[in-house]
Amino acid sequence: MEIRKASGLVLHSRQSGEADILARILTAEFGKANFVFKGLKKSRKRSLAAGEPGTLLDLLYYQHDNREFQVVSEFRVVRDRMELRKDLSRILHLYYLLELVDRTTAQGDPHSRVFALAAAAADALADTIYHAHLSAFFLLHLLRFHGVLPDLSRCARCGRTDFTRFTLDTPDFTPVCGRCAAQSGNNSSSLDTPAREFVAAALSARFSGLDCGRFPAETVLGLLFHLSLFVESYFHCEIKSKGMIFNLPQPLHRGAG
Ligand SMILES: [Zn+2]
Repeated sequence: MEIRKASGLVLHSRQSGEADILARILTAEFGKANFVFKGLKKSRKRSLAAGEPGTLLDLLYYQHDNREFQVVSEFRVVRDRMELRKDLSRILHLYYLLELVDRTTAQGDPHSRVFALAAAAADALADTIYHAHLSAFFLLHLLRFHGVLPDLSRCARCGRTDFTRFTLDTPDFTPVCGRCAAQSGNNSSSLDTPAREFVAAALSARFSGLDCGRFPAETVLGLLFHLSLFVESYFHCEIKSKGMIFNLPQPLHRGAG
């Protein structure tokens, strides 16, 4: 048994019994783990936000390696996400980001960069009207951190770099130029040059430095859709929140602004 202090980001939570909250939390120091907040639902003194997805916490707990859930002894809410909860598009994108983190990380593996990326993305979501752009930016960097982001600049079949329309092959997630796609009878939906330009821009800038207005929401959503399929294929999972993101009416993706 070891006492641990950690910074945590709540990925997923549910109620257990009358008053306990079970939460899957990504910690900066020890990776992902399951926690229980005993009696949180009935507590008048402690903030219920501790058990809400997206909340950033300081945690104190005793690590028991043989337990499925670590019992939180003390916590402090560093940031709740109340400002995101007022906006349907923002809350759906927040849940999508958190689910992507959850599905692509294993319990106990340290992921301090993913933690920092996800916490920063949740912050940025409150400020930007470009929610889909933020999710795509986040996912590209997440895949880069996981070491699975392939070279999108050249066709995987013929090596051309000057193509305009292209498809992304699953499960490899390699680009296939329009000509090669037509030859192999691949008729999955294609992406265009702005999608490649978005990838290049997103990987070479901070989100705040990205000129989102240059990239149409439909382009970014198309890219995000293909990236989501790749994640599902590569990590053998289903991103359940994806459906809600892609069913949102278009204007909502630009937020209320
Ligand atoms: Zn080609």
